[in-house]
Amino acid sequence: YIKELEALKNLEAITLDGRKIELVGNIGEPNDVGGVLKNGGVGVGLYRTEFLYMNSDKMPSEEKQFAAYRSVLEAFPEGPVIIRTLDIGGDKKLPYLPMADELNPFLGLRAIRLCFKEVDLFKTQLRAILRASVYGHAHIMFPMISSITEVRQAKVILSECMKELDKEQLRYDKAIKVGVMIEIPAAAIAADIISKEVDFFSIGTNDLCQYTLAVDRMNQDVSYLYDPFNPAILRLIKQVTATSELKKEGFFTGMCGEMAGDPKAALLLLGLGLNEFSMSALAIPQVKKIIRSVHYKDAKAIAETALNMETGEEIMDFIQKSMEKLN
Ligand code: PEP
Ligand code: MG
Repeated sequence: YIKELEALKNLEAITLDGRKIELVGNIGEPNDVGGVLKNGGVGVGLYRTEFLYMNSDKMPSEEKQFAAYRSVLEAFPEGPVIIRTLDIGGDKKLPYLPMADELNPFLGLRAIRLCFKEVDLFKTQLRAILRASVYGHAHIMFPMISSITEVRQAKVILSECMKELDKEQLRYDKAIKVGVMIEIPAAAIAADIISKEVDFFSIGTNDLCQYTLAVDRMNQDVSYLYDPFNPAILRLIKQVTATSELKKEGFFTGMCGEMAGDPKAALLLLGLGLNEFSMSALAIPQVKKIIRSVHYKDAKAIAETALNMETGEEIMDFIQKSMEKLN
């Protein structure tokens, strides 16, 4: 079985009827790229840059960040590397950045919201990403977006950074792709609006579940309610991919939450129309195997049926049975 997965490494993630899917890895630091390459990931769908900040006793300099981003980009000369800007706040704090205690930290000053408050910190990171972008296919992704206004605000700051670099005669990829995480229900519901300002979406099911179902993703006492197969979640995913399908060539929707690496979800997510799955490296071969063994048209019909079911359990059961039938 291990041998079989090993053999998959250099094969494409393509369905029997020819739909190509991009399988990429989630990483937290440059050292993680080895695992992604070893397991056949063609790029990085989520680079969680907060570890660069958390594993440091002071704000990481532009140079330090540039070196980290560059090394990841150089590991994937062909594939995309989606660098997510700082997602701190919520449960994550930085020792050198004083932050007020909040009653509801997950609804408070987190991720992009914090970056808008700490513009210098944000610009340092954006400059580092831009400068590294000439070494590969960098994509910038903003976390915790709830409206198009925030995307525009982030892009204004990004273009200020570009102008600075122009003045300093430093190079960057002028056509760098800009995308957002879809992890707040408002962003999923208004995906068609937000899509006007971006090149791609990546669905973050970890937070999307937490916020849609009003279930703290860390609280064991309510974890029985935390269900990515809940029909409400599937309908939000569908709404996002439906928007994506109407966009021009090149627009894509990925998923980088835990659900993307769950082999039990692969058939369903394929059928819902995802273009890219980003997951921990070890999950890549199994998901690839599933994608290569089914027809997209069957997956689509299965997802369509699932969308009309009543509960997550029913849906999970149905997906499991459908997989057995197809094999
Ligand atoms: C998510 O919310 O699904 C996600 C991928 O981001 P994080 O787990 O880092 O919040
Ligand atoms: Mg998240």
